[in-house]
Amino acid sequence: MAGRVGAQAPRSNRRRFLALGLGAITCAAVWPAGAAVRISDRRRLSFVNLHTDETLDTVYWADGSYEPDALKSIDHLLRDFRTGEVRRIDPRLLDLLVRLRAQLDSTAPFHVISGYRSPATNAMLASHSDGVASGSLHMQGMAIDIRVPGRELRQVQQAALAQQSGGVGYYPRSDFVHVDTGRVRRWG
Ligand SMILES: [Zn+2]
Repeated sequence: MAGRVGAQAPRSNRRRFLALGLGAITCAAVWPAGAAVRISDRRRLSFVNLHTDETLDTVYWADGSYEPDALKSIDHLLRDFRTGEVRRIDPRLLDLLVRLRAQLDSTAPFHVISGYRSPATNAMLASHSDGVASGSLHMQGMAIDIRVPGRELRQVQQAALAQQSGGVGYYPRSDFVHVDTGRVRRWG
C-alpha cells in the first residue's frame, strides 16, 4: 500500500515524494470515497486488550507518515494472545478505527476482544463456534472485534456501516462488533 511504503521511506525521500505532488494520490488511497468522517493529521488510538488487560494509547501517524514504533506497539497489543504470535496489523484498519471513534464522538479506548489470530487459533475457534469463519480476516491482521465504552453496540455498528470501507459483523450475544478492511459487507 502506498501509505506504508511512504512510512518506511527515509524522511528526505518522503518529502521529495510529497513535493512531487504524489501525496494527494497517497491520501486518495487511504481515504475511500464516501467516508463519513475525515480525520486529522495526527492519528491517535487507545486500546484495552480484554484478554491480557494490557492498555495502549499511541499516536501512530503524524507528520505525514505512519510511526513504525507505534505500529509495533499496536501489533504487540493485538497479537494472538493464545500463542504469542505477532503480525502486522493493516494500518488501514487503524485508520478505520480512528474514523469510527470520530463518528462516535468518543475518546474512550477500544475494548478489544480479538485482533490478530494465528491460523491454529482461528481453526480452534472455528471448530467451536458458528460465528468464526475458517478464512477469517483476523488471520491477515485485517480484522478486529471491539466494543466502545459509553456507546451502545448498535451505535458502534451503525458508525462502522457508515464508513462503507469494509466488513461489519454484529454480535449482540457476545457484545462486540467486528470490523475489517476486506470488501464492504455486513452480517449479524
Ligand atoms: Zn471478528
